[in-house]
This record gives sequence, structure tokens and C-alpha cells, in this order.
Amino acid sequence: MVEGTPDRRGFPIVVSGPSGVGKTTIVQQVLESDPQVTYSVSVTTRPPRRGETSGDHYEFVDDQVFDELVEDGALAEWAEVHGYRYGTRASVISEGLDLGADVIMDLDVQGGMSIKRLFPEALLIFIEPPSREELEERLRGRATDDEEVIAQRLANAIGELEWSSKYDEQVTNNDLDETVETVLEKIAERRARPDGAD
Ligand code: ADP
Ligand code: 5GP
Repeated sequence: MVEGTPDRRGFPIVVSGPSGVGKTTIVQQVLESDPQVTYSVSVTTRPPRRGETSGDHYEFVDDQVFDELVEDGALAEWAEVHGYRYGTRASVISEGLDLGADVIMDLDVQGGMSIKRLFPEALLIFIEPPSREELEERLRGRATDDEEVIAQRLANAIGELEWSSKYDEQVTNNDLDETVETVLEKIAERRARPDGAD
């Protein structure tokens, strides 16, 4: 349950980083720990993985529906990642911000840059892996995809790391609890400075 403050407009929080770095896990824990943060479900054309249900973290749609959403301007941003399309519903972000909640999103770097253009006050956090070896291990631990997909994900992941410096904050996910604590602190700092000025 989100406890936003109606007399305050929230700000968007973008968490990016290479696939397998721990973004989803971190975002889930932030949502559990900070009642003022709400989540924006992504729309995707990829099929659900085992255990995923529509409307939980993703809304699964086909290409035609995705095209219609893009055409209608329903998505705040969208990107093609690993051959599938992902987008963030603009209405879900706006509703959360209007309620006074801070809206967290798990996006790739293209999405992160788009959100920063739309919302200059957004807080952009880039999660870095402790090492490439550790990144590969976590990616393998999580993914149910085949070797070809994993190889592509790893290649993309290395490319994404180059975007880190464009983010407001860089956090290395060495220890999960520590990382979540740091992310919560960054959010609290930005809240104390709601104009987003550096
Ligand atoms: P992403 O959303 O960035 O692709 P996930 O959140 O799915 O990544 O995490 C990938 C895997 O790594 C998961 O199995 C998760 O439990 C694990 N993980 C996340 N953070 C850590 C950490 N600090 N140490 C070890 N494993 C971790
Ligand atoms: P995954 O399928 O591993 O959950 O996500 C794949 C990639 O797509 C990740 O890099 C993730 O950050 C990105 N992603 C997930 N949802 C969105 C979205 O709504 N918009 C954009 N641009 N990227 C997304």
C-alpha cells in the first residue's frame, strides 16, 4: 500500500543496469521497505517466464497491441531489448506522481534516458556488478533462456555498463542488503531536495 502525500508531487526513480545485476530484486525490496514508493508495471511483447503473471511486474501483450499503445502515445518510453519490446505506461507513472508517491521503474538505459528527458527531476540509479564473472553467474542463476539468449544478454550487459556515468548515482551490488540500504538512502536524499537541484 502506497502512502503518498497528496500535497506533494512524487518523482520518478529509474533503476537500470545490465540484465542479471539484481535490479528486479532490488526494486522489489525497495517497494517493501519504503511505503512512499510505488511501481510502474512495464508492457512487454516477450512471453512470460515461469512464475510471472500479467500485471505483476509486466503486462504481456502481442506486437499488434504494442503498436497501438505506441501510436496512441500511451507509453512514456519504449525500447527493443533482446528482440522484444518493452514500454512504460505513461498513465501509471502520472497517477502515482499525482498521488504524491515516488514511482520506481526498472528500465534499460534507453528507457532511463527517455524518462530523464520527460522528467528532469527523475532520480537515475545505475546498478553495477562487482565483476563480469559475478554478473554472468547471476544471469545464469536467474534466466531460463537458452545459451544463445544468454550469450546475447551478456553482450548487451557489457554494452550497458558504458552508460553508467550518465546516471545520477552508481551503486555496486556486492551485497544485496547493503545495496538496498544505499538505494533507500539515495531516494531519501532526493526527497529532502524535491526540486531535484544538484
Ligand atoms: P535483473 O533484474 O537485473 O536482471 P535479478 O534481480 O533478476 O536481475 O537478479 C539476478 C539474480 O541475482 C537473482 O537470482 C538474484 O537473486 C541474484 N542477486 C541479486 N543481487 C545479488 C547479490 N548481491 N549477490 C548474489 N546474488 C544476487
Ligand atoms: P527482463 O526481461 O530481463 O526483465 O528485462 C529485459 C530488459 O528490459 C532489462 O534491461 C530491463 O531493464 C528492460 N526493461 C524492462 N521493462 C522496460 C520498460 O518498460 N522499458 C524499457 N525501455 N526497458 C525495460
